[in-house]
Amino acid sequence: MILSVISAAKTTLMLIGICLLGATGKIDSVIMYRDVLAVHADIDNAFAYGGFIVSGVNSENFLSHEYGHLIQERKYGLLYEFLVVVPSLISAMVSENAAAHGARWFEIEATEQGRQ
Ligand SMILES: [Zn+2]
Repeated sequence: MILSVISAAKTTLMLIGICLLGATGKIDSVIMYRDVLAVHADIDNAFAYGGFIVSGVNSENFLSHEYGHLIQERKYGLLYEFLVVVPSLISAMVSENAAAHGARWFEIEATEQGRQ
């Protein structure tokens, strides 16, 4: 029950965020990528949360990696925020470059799982 409520809250949060992106004219396209909605928007980064992908880059490699994060979200459940989301946000802020960020275990795992 509580997991369903949290999942619905995350989906609602993402839908509100996507609506705000749309209202500000920042959405370029929306596609189905595998079994999720992927929003290509005019943003500098990408994230996967609440079952959605929002990305400034629309390449297969990028979408596959973000899809890997959604697999992590399903796999880790309530721990996803603590194991992946918060560490990833911190890593993105403190890493010297994209390669250093990409070398973190949760980024490597996302890439590997997205390829499957
Ligand atoms: Zn990532």
